[in-house]
Amino acid sequence: MKLVAIAVPAPLRRLFDYDAGAVAERPLLPGMRVRVPFGRREAVGFVAAPPREEAQPAHACKPIAAVLDAEPLLPAELLELCRWSADYYQHPLGEVLATAIPGPLRRGAACAAPADAATLRVTGAGAAALSGLPPRATALRAVLERLQQAPEPRASLARALPRTSAAVRAALERGWLEPAPAAQAPAGGAQEPGPALTPEQQAALERMRAMPAGFWAALVEGVTGSGKTELYLRLAADALAQGGQVLVLAPEIGLTPQLAQRFAQRFGDRVASYHSGLSELARAEVWRRARAGEVAIVVGTRSAVFVPLARPRLIIVDEEHDASYKQQEGLRYHARDIALVRAQRLGIPAVLGSATPALESQHNAAAGRFLHLRLQARVHSAAAPRIGVVDVRTQRLEHGLSAPLVDAVQRHLGDGGQVLLFLNRRGFAPTLLCPECGWVARCTHCDARMVVHRGRHRLICHHCGAAAPLRQDCADCGKGGLLAVGQGTERIEDALRLRFPQQRLERFDSDRLLRAGELERLLADVRSGQVQILVGTQVLAKGHDFAGLSLAGIVDVDQALFGADFRALERMGQVVTQVAGRVGRAGQPGEVLLQTHQPDHPMLRLLIERGYPEFCRALLEERRAFGLPPFAHLALLRAEAPREGAAMAFLHAAAAAFATAADTGTAVDLLGPAPAAMERRGGMHRAQLLLRSASRSRLHRRLAGWMPLLEALRTRSRVRWSLDVDPADLF
Ligand code: ADP
Ligand code: ZN
Ligand code: ZN
Repeated sequence: MKLVAIAVPAPLRRLFDYDAGAVAERPLLPGMRVRVPFGRREAVGFVAAPPREEAQPAHACKPIAAVLDAEPLLPAELLELCRWSADYYQHPLGEVLATAIPGPLRRGAACAAPADAATLRVTGAGAAALSGLPPRATALRAVLERLQQAPEPRASLARALPRTSAAVRAALERGWLEPAPAAQAPAGGAQEPGPALTPEQQAALERMRAMPAGFWAALVEGVTGSGKTELYLRLAADALAQGGQVLVLAPEIGLTPQLAQRFAQRFGDRVASYHSGLSELARAEVWRRARAGEVAIVVGTRSAVFVPLARPRLIIVDEEHDASYKQQEGLRYHARDIALVRAQRLGIPAVLGSATPALESQHNAAAGRFLHLRLQARVHSAAAPRIGVVDVRTQRLEHGLSAPLVDAVQRHLGDGGQVLLFLNRRGFAPTLLCPECGWVARCTHCDARMVVHRGRHRLICHHCGAAAPLRQDCADCGKGGLLAVGQGTERIEDALRLRFPQQRLERFDSDRLLRAGELERLLADVRSGQVQILVGTQVLAKGHDFAGLSLAGIVDVDQALFGADFRALERMGQVVTQVAGRVGRAGQPGEVLLQTHQPDHPMLRLLIERGYPEFCRALLEERRAFGLPPFAHLALLRAEAPREGAAMAFLHAAAAAFATAADTGTAVDLLGPAPAAMERRGGMHRAQLLLRSASRSRLHRRLAGWMPLLEALRTRSRVRWSLDVDPADLF
């Protein structure tokens, strides 16, 4: 019997054998899609290995229902990368493959140029049929006559001759029309040469150009505006000149459209972008064109790391420290890490860039694994900003703003500058409190407070999304006069609008739902100086270059200073540095003000006085001392269940299974199990078990042995669990 192992998208970490007898005449190569019966449904799976003969299969195997591809949809390189990811993240291969390809392809759609894009022409049979058409076949005649003049794309034909689509379909079916052979990929498009490089840029570029062919990795560290993107553009031009393709990863293209625009300006229609803002069909089309080599540069978000390339030559990861590269559900992969692995396997360079590199990357650079290139100066304005601290213990705050901060805003606005206020908390206030009895509005599903959203007149839980009307009286004692305590961006916005009514203020956070293109228009208004005050969250700290910004205020650094997670300080340093990197215009140094209750916090002082690199050196020492990444490798087993105690019970059983697994005694520590920091969320009780080892290979060996035991664990109540390799946080 001819058997073939199929990867099916299902939460089981194994392949499934199917009988290939019924489709014996079709070649079955790894990377091809097949339709197979799976449980009570049909699924689209991937051939994972070449078929094999087995005289007496151990199990009865169901037959493959259909072979969907004539050649492998996934190039061998990509299939192997997915296999690597499945092993590394301990995730089912079928689900990795489903993550790696766009929805329509996952569901079995053909990977072909869309019918609308195809150019149609009349065949010989069509020309012959035309003379014999009955008089009432007016639509068919119009179509054939028009296309006889000149072949034409189907879409423009539909516009020129409305209501003829049925006739076009009929003509295609009868062989009277056919798609004309695809035109070659566009060779050029508008191209600017780009500015002459600064000496720093030139030196960095030359060091990269001097690297031998094959894999190498570089970390380009430079503040916003120091010319990193210009370097990417030069490297991409080199790769294109050699006939190669370039993959560019960016954290969130919806928020930072500038990067894709810069590439498009330089390289015209040879650039395509790939992100979640596109329709599934549009994504599938970019995926197909990249695979066919019809597009030279793909600029995309996290999942673009899996886009197939016909002639890969270079991978660029912009803002490599950004947390959005880590997927937080399903396949919990880190796109920067996969990009490095992919470049290595392909034997091509990977270039990572950031104003605030992640500790992991700095560690790699320090260990000599990455070429470390620094761009110290900004291209257009030289001086670094003055960073000041406002000790809010000695201040009366109004809506969270101290007098020195408000005065500074006034001063900078008076001088014609723009100001930015950063607060990583959306909504109006994080707490609704009854001053009479101390009652606080809490989420009924989570161990969390409801956030006051005054604009929408609602209380919203930021952890599970539960919403309730914004009440006026206490749920306990019934008295009115409830207080909104603390502040979010909405409150800062209101306070500044009252204070500076003449100035245009815009708020940037994920509550402000912007239609497509609206963010770009807003950012253009900021750049042209029409917006004077910006209030926002993280959205504002990402890669925007605002030439007119002269003051940045960080409303609450303490939030990050005392974050519960081991990466909280690193993130604080990144946010402060990123925000500070936005200010300063036309040669004038800008100003940054941090509000804090802890003006003498040693890490805060280090950051302000010595800068991000020194701050990181100290953080790395701390990580080394505490045995945390990058000096140790972590995996986190999370479990949750509706019933209290069930998640903990599962994790105790998991820990016991770990102890019995073969290969004990190798240096992997188990920490926990323990209830999660937020024990209840969305109605689920949550707990976690942390694994730690100084040796990555040992950790992975143990995980591989442990996972089958976990899958075999039976619990009495419904427990959902997931393993997170290299977790971004320990929540
Ligand atoms: P980054 O990516 O580090 O933020 P960019 O490459 O975007 O920096 O450069 C910042 C600004 O300076 C951009 O407007 C860019 O067009 C411009 N720029 C970059 N390099 C040069 C150069 N060598 N000469 C003149 N302008 C430059
Ligand atoms: Zn909730
Ligand atoms: Zn009350």
